[in-house]
Amino acid sequence: MPAEKFIPFSRPTISNAAIKEVTDCLRSGWLTTGPRAAKFEAMMRDYFGAPHALACLNATMGLWMVLKAIGIQPGDEVITTPLTFVATLNTIVMAGGKPVLVDVEPGTYNIDVKKMAAAITKKTRALMPVHFAGCPVDMDAVYALAKKHKLRVIEDCAHAIGTKYKGQRLGSFGDVQVFSYHPNKNLTTGEGGAIVTREAKLARSIELQRFHGIDKANGWSRHSKIPGLGHYDVVEAALKSNFMDLQAALGIHQLAALEGFNLKRRAIAGYYFKKLRGVPGLTLPTPPKFAHTHSWHLFAPVVERGARVDRDTLMVELKKRNIGTGLHYTACHLHSFYEKTFGYRRGNFPAAERISDGILSLPCCPTLTRRDQDRVIRAVREIMGG
Ligand SMILES: *Cc1c(COP(=O)(O)O)cnc(C)c1O
Repeated sequence: MPAEKFIPFSRPTISNAAIKEVTDCLRSGWLTTGPRAAKFEAMMRDYFGAPHALACLNATMGLWMVLKAIGIQPGDEVITTPLTFVATLNTIVMAGGKPVLVDVEPGTYNIDVKKMAAAITKKTRALMPVHFAGCPVDMDAVYALAKKHKLRVIEDCAHAIGTKYKGQRLGSFGDVQVFSYHPNKNLTTGEGGAIVTREAKLARSIELQRFHGIDKANGWSRHSKIPGLGHYDVVEAALKSNFMDLQAALGIHQLAALEGFNLKRRAIAGYYFKKLRGVPGLTLPTPPKFAHTHSWHLFAPVVERGARVDRDTLMVELKKRNIGTGLHYTACHLHSFYEKTFGYRRGNFPAAERISDGILSLPCCPTLTRRDQDRVIRAVREIMGG
């Protein structure tokens, strides 16, 4: 029997129109930040209903620039979750801050907002919730806490473009949101990210930080009497995280197609819920009780201790059957740097550790066919029993 084709855990959906836009961009002679980036940002402002949506190199740089923009100082504490991609914590460290972790809820895998208040100290500056897998954190509770303690809120929305919380799209309200456009994410520009905010001062800081601290408007008035000669002024020392027109060429078409992508993901998740219920030792995620629209960036059940096979064996067995999976994520506090530097250890966050030990991401992306999904479901049942 011929081997069945490989089913990746995720793959981007790139339309012919997007490919044409990229080749048009290549032929135009303008590859870096320019008219297509401007168009993509205008589309984002419209999509999020926000006055400021700034595209940048990737979400890691986006998070870091936001932390810089809010003035994180050495020793400042930022409260976040151990169950996230390590970029969330690394950016806090790279900005000079200290990540202070709070355990997660067992069902949503999101930071347990009820436990956040106890982690607040005199040094706390910001709360950094992550909407895991596209499942929204209870933002009313987060913003109430932030207001009470005068803290900034930086939402890591890397998984959550299109997610709605109580009828409102993430990015349409609140303090500041950072989105990722990495190829595995719900919307991709190859690499890329965006910062969305309603605050002009913060947006201004990002604008400067993402391009060398250059102020063009100030340039001609400082260095020449005549505008339009390309004079510029550097108003702060900064790095470079600007967004290319080549990336925007993809983004323009991805954003237009996003609702359809997310509907497909929702249908895939719904079918997994229907067909994987009752597999012994496999716990499916539990969406929150408040009104929301999930964007299903990941469909990630947990293999419990005592299941017929453990998580790693399930991943290996699925791979033998030409089915790809992902591991999102090993809890961040278990990485050697975080143990060594902040003294975290196994036992600190039991809910996150249970998930970290058992979680795997099953194939979930708009190109996954029903036939492929049936193959995944059959394989999981065959390996785990039930
Ligand atoms: C992907 C991801 C990031 C980083 O995004 P990049 O665009 O790859 O830099 C940050 N946080 C979370 C939770 C992510 O999944």
